Amino acid sequence: MPTIERADAWLCHIPVAAVRTDAVQSFVEQETVVVRLAGPDGLEGRGYSYTIGTGGTAVLALVEDYLLPRVVGADAARPEALWDRLRRSTLATTVGPITALALAAIDTAVWDLRARALGTPLAHLAGGAQDSVALYDTEGCWLHFGTDELVANAVAAADAGFGGVKVKIGKERAADDAARLAAVRDAVGPGMAIMVDANQGFTRDEAARRAHLLEPYDLTWIEEPLAADDVEGHALLARSTSIPVAVGESLYSLGQFRAYLDAGAASVLQPDVARVGGITPWLKVAHLAEAFGVPVAPHFLMELHVSLAAAVPNGRWVEWIPQLDSVTTSRIRHARGRALPPDAPGIGIDWDDRALESTVKAKERA
Ligand code: MG
Repeated sequence: MPTIERADAWLCHIPVAAVRTDAVQSFVEQETVVVRLAGPDGLEGRGYSYTIGTGGTAVLALVEDYLLPRVVGADAARPEALWDRLRRSTLATTVGPITALALAAIDTAVWDLRARALGTPLAHLAGGAQDSVALYDTEGCWLHFGTDELVANAVAAADAGFGGVKVKIGKERAADDAARLAAVRDAVGPGMAIMVDANQGFTRDEAARRAHLLEPYDLTWIEEPLAADDVEGHALLARSTSIPVAVGESLYSLGQFRAYLDAGAASVLQPDVARVGGITPWLKVAHLAEAFGVPVAPHFLMELHVSLAAAVPNGRWVEWIPQLDSVTTSRIRHARGRALPPDAPGIGIDWDDRALESTVKAKERA
């Protein structure tokens, strides 16, 4: 019974290696709320969640002012009990992104402490379904890249062994998106998976029109074509196009995922362990998807998701966006396009505390 004896949290501003753009936003810095839990015998659990640039101080305040005081004294062997108690304590701000991110920072730390106490890697503790998971690359195919650069990056990804690439779409002219996809497909050949991501950029009619234009390129999925709360619109689109529809990075609860599955509005789910509230609810989303015959391809956070996708039988892809390299010493092992979950006890992330410290702004909640 690893009792949580102390808990603290802080906010880091982790730079991105290169600016990332999509149809609606630019990702220039990862705000990262880190939670540290001290257990017995020097055991420590470390978790985190993130934003891509706004709201980090609000998440930290919720964690520090309301949640951490309820964490001390809890049993890290019982993540369900603690998660439910914390959720009930924030009921007036649930369901919502800030609360989900706050819960996730704590829940991932609880699982880290629990796994370390048991001497077990997260992938095994959470189910251990697969030895490895297929990798696809997103880092080379942002919207601001010109077609030549996009094609070169996609070819480089194929040469490096990735099984797929994700291309951002949402150019002003639909024909420009189609031309970029045609060039990428031509360059990588028929064996490579190509996903596209609209980041909620289209209206219903525009999404249907653009999906039709992109159908010749044998796409693995079209991601977030519409506003994330338009379940009906996604269901209509799913029935009108042969391209599988993927959603999940902008959903914040198990119930929101269920609504998509019930409506037949998604063929691929992309739960984000931070945005859905942690490992505890992430696993429920994955298992629910399995019951609907739907694979999961988690959004971002490959350092955590490699273990979770491997833990469940329907974990299909992990998204390659190395974001923690500047503040960690651990690296994801991969071979022949497949990522291997870490085998060390815990969630598998070794933080470089000196590097992490350098990303803290002193004035924040000092
Ligand atoms: Mg996306």
